[in-house]
Amino acid sequence: MTIKTTCAYCGTGCGVLATPTPEGVEIAGDTKHPANFGRLCSKGSALGETLIAEGRLLTPQIGDHSASWDDALDLVAQKFSQTIAEHGPNSVAFYVSGQLLTEDYYVANKLIKGYMGTANIDTNSRLCMASTVAGHKRAFGTDTVPGTYEDLEEADAIFLVGSNLAWCHPVLYQRIAAAKAARPHMKIVNIDPRRTATTDLADFHVQLASGSDVALFNHLLAQIAERGAVDQSFVDSHVNGFVDALEAAKQSDPSVTGLDAETLEAFVDLWINTEKTVTVFSQGVNQSTSGADKVNSILNCHLATGRIGRPGMGPFSVTGQPNAMGGREVGGLANMLAAHLDVENPDHRAGVQSFWNAPTMPEAPGLKAIDMFNAVESGEIKALWVMCTNPAQSLPEADRVRAAIEDCPFVVVSEMFGSTETAQAADVLLPATGWGEKTGTVTNSDRMMSRQRSIMAPLGESKHDWEIMCEVAKRMGWEDAFNFASPAEIFREHAALSGVAADFGKDFDITGLAEISDADYDALEPTRWPVSAKKTGGRFFADGAFYTPNGKANMLALTHRAPAQETSDEYPLRMNSGRVRDHWHTQTRTGMSARLTRHMGEPYLEVHPEDALKYGLKPAGMAKVSNQHGSAILRVLISDKTRPGTVFTPLHWTADTSSHGRINALVTANVDAVSGQPESKAAPVSVADFGAKWYGFAVCKSNLRPNADYWAKAKLPKGYQYELAGAEIPSDWEAYAKDMFGLENADISIVTGANAASCRVAFMVDGKIEAALFTSQSPVSIARTFVTDALDDDVPILAGRPSADQPDPGAIVCACFNVGVNTILNAIDENQLLSVDAIGEALDAGTNCGSCRPELSALLAQTNLSTAAE
Ligand code: SF4
Repeated sequence: MTIKTTCAYCGTGCGVLATPTPEGVEIAGDTKHPANFGRLCSKGSALGETLIAEGRLLTPQIGDHSASWDDALDLVAQKFSQTIAEHGPNSVAFYVSGQLLTEDYYVANKLIKGYMGTANIDTNSRLCMASTVAGHKRAFGTDTVPGTYEDLEEADAIFLVGSNLAWCHPVLYQRIAAAKAARPHMKIVNIDPRRTATTDLADFHVQLASGSDVALFNHLLAQIAERGAVDQSFVDSHVNGFVDALEAAKQSDPSVTGLDAETLEAFVDLWINTEKTVTVFSQGVNQSTSGADKVNSILNCHLATGRIGRPGMGPFSVTGQPNAMGGREVGGLANMLAAHLDVENPDHRAGVQSFWNAPTMPEAPGLKAIDMFNAVESGEIKALWVMCTNPAQSLPEADRVRAAIEDCPFVVVSEMFGSTETAQAADVLLPATGWGEKTGTVTNSDRMMSRQRSIMAPLGESKHDWEIMCEVAKRMGWEDAFNFASPAEIFREHAALSGVAADFGKDFDITGLAEISDADYDALEPTRWPVSAKKTGGRFFADGAFYTPNGKANMLALTHRAPAQETSDEYPLRMNSGRVRDHWHTQTRTGMSARLTRHMGEPYLEVHPEDALKYGLKPAGMAKVSNQHGSAILRVLISDKTRPGTVFTPLHWTADTSSHGRINALVTANVDAVSGQPESKAAPVSVADFGAKWYGFAVCKSNLRPNADYWAKAKLPKGYQYELAGAEIPSDWEAYAKDMFGLENADISIVTGANAASCRVAFMVDGKIEAALFTSQSPVSIARTFVTDALDDDVPILAGRPSADQPDPGAIVCACFNVGVNTILNAIDENQLLSVDAIGEALDAGTNCGSCRPELSALLAQTNLSTAAE
């Protein structure tokens, strides 16, 4: 039977059809889901490969020992009760996740705010879109995305700001690409300090200086007024603060953007002259100490022109996480109550307290993520419950956060995996269900609520997060309030509570679903909120009705501010961090798919050629990246995609998947004063050549921790691959390899090279390759796809490449059809392929999920350029 569910990853919120078969779970895009209409990206397509038991936490643990659920839950309830009794409610905290379902989130919020009596609940969504929440609330009086995904197709110009949509929201990128192909006059502009895969679709790239978005949009606002493009009627009737905002914009100096006059002019011309304009923004805007101001600088321009909430126009925040929006709806942030109500408003507090019949209600916002872990470090928080996230890895200054969690008197972690850094520090570890087992709802970036449905029974003894919390709440004495029997029951209460918010004039109103039956909840089709007698679905604000005290939107007077921490002689470069195409967060799920790990097998440092020269970095060498908070060792990728003075590195590698890839250890915990969101894209760092004396590449059927100064691990169909480097050359390669692989009794073939750093060793068991190591004094140049495919086979491997009559496909570009870069380049050359579609016809590459289409396009451009140069 095919089950309709929703993807586990980004905020696009694609509908998925999951069909259990004897071999596993087949995954396809849901052609009827309005977010994706059947499309899925590489990550979504590989969801079935991640439904495996490997690494799963199957039973509760107290300390190092397995425990019964009763003992674990009793201990959690007793410790939280005792801590609150002895130190007050603000001595406890929950740190939760945008990957929880709305029903889980609802119970967490009710438990800690209404019953434990503190607002100390925050979420990893704080790292993702808190600046947008703050910007929306300041401008609109409510945290509401005005538009819908259809606007991306109806727009005549789309400005993508700080958003690598091609890799981070691939299906939205594909929708835009398809719209542009159908309506070629549609213009795309990419505004980003870095040239990314998204830039390939753009008509032009606005490569502004890091953190200068406010100056850019202030310049636009000033030009909107200068060129008579203000919608005066809309402004007069529906906007506060226009004059002050414009005056501040006029004072703003566009030169801080570092853009030449021509680029600025082209940007301003296109924006002003295209009424149907959508400005899409994401983490490049949000993850900044001026993130809320950046958001408001964009909203200012849309308000001044009245381009909001109408088809094909408006500001559009895209969220990074699958249920960041659902978390916002139930009050999952420390400064919010449920249903978009405010903690600080006594009437709102009384309304929610009365609805919940709750004994208590905090009167002040709780601690936001960074402050929460500072309070853990200082000892103010004495009992911490982390659900479905890994702050010891993902928060800024991650080494300090990890130490703080380790020192916290009582830490509970509800998790699928026991190996995460945070789980390792837990006093009580509770096995939680994950995607494929959970059931409930999520809300995507355009307010669409969709069902996640279970495909399989929970593994081991794992329980749903809402069940775990209800069990603890009952043990703390709140049996009646947490006697939920199902997610449907929780959803009904959540929908009914939105009626309280509606009575206060709030827009998050889903009272139309408050009496949904279990059967209708099970069958619930994707539904965009609001859902009430007054309004269902649609866009917001075209009518000029906002949710501020006088019903008008607020334009804000804004001033450009540079990132909080200046670069210096000691730390002269700015480190930008972000996602890669085929991984998600800390790889706990995507890392299980050998198909996905083939795209990027290790963390890297993208550095401009001028900086590489200046700091002595070699192509594919190893760089040491450092600052006062930590250090990392990363593969060097020299590229002019990044601006001089900045470097880029992906955020997905943990202590479990790399020796020195935890780049969040270097991200400085400076936050936006309004939103509390940390500045994850501007950490000052130094870089230097690591000084590797040898480089290595290994494959092994076993999961190892290699004995090398640098290593990075990636899953293969029949084992693992390891990129390696070392500061000292081992004196005996055979002994080194035996030690690393733990293969004392296997048959060995070994070839030593011309120098002490060069060696090739293969270990055979029963005539099949069990492991192999290739080392060299320069970055290892072998056919990696051939070597990884040779594992557990009986082919001659030591040459490191196929025999002359067999082609080397090269690094995998198309993960769906396993098509390598060499295969693609050869096909382009031999068949004179001129388009991505032609490559698809020849090789299938790019014809399934489409995530690799920007890379295929780049390869075509590269080939055309090289042809032109000949
Ligand atoms: Fe999942 Fe990809 Fe869709 Fe995002 S774009 S929801 S990761 S399938």
